[in-house]
Amino acid sequence: MSEKNNLDALIGGREFLNDLQEGVWVADGNGRIVFANRSLARLAGFESADILVGKSWRELFPSGEVARLTRTKLDSEMKSLGDSFIVSRNNEHVPVSVAMARRKVADSSWLIGTAVRAGVRAGANVADTTSREVMENSVDGICIIENGHIAYVNRRFEELAGYSSSQVARLGLDRLISARDRKNVAQIIAEPGSVLMPVHHEVRLVNRTGHEIECELRIVPVKSDGKPTLLCFLRDVSALKQAERARTDFIAMLSHDLRTPLAAIKEAMSLLSETAAARLEERQRRYLTIAREEIDRLNRMIDNLIEVSRMEAGKTVLRLDGVDLAELLSTAVESMSLLINKRNLTIERNIPPRMPPILGDRDRLLRVFNNLLDNAVKYSPVGGTIRVDISFVDPNSPLLAHSGTLTNTGYVQVTISDSGPGIPAEFLDRIFGKFERVDPHGPGIGLGLAIVRSIIELHHGRVWAHSKLGEGASFSFILPIKENP
Ligand code: ADP
Repeated sequence: MSEKNNLDALIGGREFLNDLQEGVWVADGNGRIVFANRSLARLAGFESADILVGKSWRELFPSGEVARLTRTKLDSEMKSLGDSFIVSRNNEHVPVSVAMARRKVADSSWLIGTAVRAGVRAGANVADTTSREVMENSVDGICIIENGHIAYVNRRFEELAGYSSSQVARLGLDRLISARDRKNVAQIIAEPGSVLMPVHHEVRLVNRTGHEIECELRIVPVKSDGKPTLLCFLRDVSALKQAERARTDFIAMLSHDLRTPLAAIKEAMSLLSETAAARLEERQRRYLTIAREEIDRLNRMIDNLIEVSRMEAGKTVLRLDGVDLAELLSTAVESMSLLINKRNLTIERNIPPRMPPILGDRDRLLRVFNNLLDNAVKYSPVGGTIRVDISFVDPNSPLLAHSGTLTNTGYVQVTISDSGPGIPAEFLDRIFGKFERVDPHGPGIGLGLAIVRSIIELHHGRVWAHSKLGEGASFSFILPIKENP
């Protein structure tokens, strides 16, 4: 079946889609819009839907939202992805509720999305009985703040806080949140107009008995009768957090216990290679090499597991110093030399002659190089080339405008490129999530890149991936220069 027939099988006669109130789009495997209806065009501020065809659906949303939307696993059922914003042609943020699905027809995969103007729902008056019933029976605590004052509190919120709605109204939402987490929330409540997008915070709610409950707080800004209004959803995640901690502790304990015997085996193998290699046959030497490679791999895996459990426990403390990236790269390449030689790979380096030191934690940054090189080596074809480019970032580059980067600080960019199979576009953001892999049956456990992202962001840097399917993948990150040595 041709692509066009597949598309027709998916959405049939398209005319009725244009009559729908919701915006609808269909995108191909690369995320390019192949169909958009009239309502979507209107939401995005275009006269004709045809203008959207050929664009990436990701261009319709702010980048933070794209990351959130693409993190969700989709199947053939439409899944609600909650409130979001469409960035219109004149750069306005149009509040919408989004739902998406992924459908397969023959061997093509299509992404189907719908966006309804959020005002259609948010405008439903609280006094409207159905809405009130829905809110009263919600499993999440809900409170509505109008002009800085609590206008409504649902039953679940009262249960969580241990206060009646009028007591909550007197206290205010920020006063119910532990002092450690209060600052951001208080700021949003004080300036509701400054919030354009829904925000999430992990907070501890202090209930009437003084007990702290770990909660996820989602604050959604809406305009109700022209008044800046905040819808606040509070979800008790303490049981989930407890289970996560138990899992993390278990991983940490197990990884530590595995480390000692593995170090002994590694040492014994090295001794054996040094002392007995001359007496061994070629085949036996090969077995020894394989055993050493696999020990190195196990070691890297265990290091990653320990790092993840440390990160999750919030125990990652950086030991900052001046770090020489070229030296780190050499150390990482050296530690993988067995594999690199075996697969006959070339490592091409392009590093400026006078590289200033980076402000960073050497061991952690070595892990970044190890994890990225490990992937590049794993996915490179035999005899392939891996390029490592290091360059200075232009001080006016939009890369530095990103929140989290340091101001008035020079940055260096590192890019590691391979000539492997590449990564499908819809995975480019997702693979930085924990346990995310393009092929769930492939090698690895999907932690390497999550660790890379966490380490780089702790250093006030950024990391991203580029790829064209079939033409390799490249991973870039930026890090601040340590000034005034
Ligand atoms: P792991 O390699 O342990 O699975 P990572 O977090 O390092 O975990 O990588 C996540 C996924 O990203 C991999 O499973 C793979 O699908 C994809 N990936 C990472 N690096 C590359 C690369 N250089 N080329 C192709 N795919 C890659």
